[in-house]
Amino acid sequence: MAEPVRTCLGCGKKFVKSKLLRFVLVVNKVVPDTGALVSGRGAYCCRDEKCIKLFVKNKKRVSRAFRRDISDIRIELALIFRSQE
Ligand SMILES: [Zn+2]
Repeated sequence: MAEPVRTCLGCGKKFVKSKLLRFVLVVNKVVPDTGALVSGRGAYCCRDEKCIKLFVKNKKRVSRAFRRDISDIRIELALIFRSQE
């Protein structure tokens, strides 16, 4: 079976899911789901600093991915950089 493809919300290109970082909405924060432990709706982004910056700026796209307005919600990136150490 082919791997599912998701769109990076930074650059807008499509990649296989395993190449992308998955973000999830928890309570009042958007956090990277580094352990793929959180189910539900996800927003995807390349593991690339440029894309991550665009992702964070592009809250409209991220809102659409979660089907809820996240303009007041913080996107927590600290975990990503910690997980790459
Ligand atoms: Zn990208």
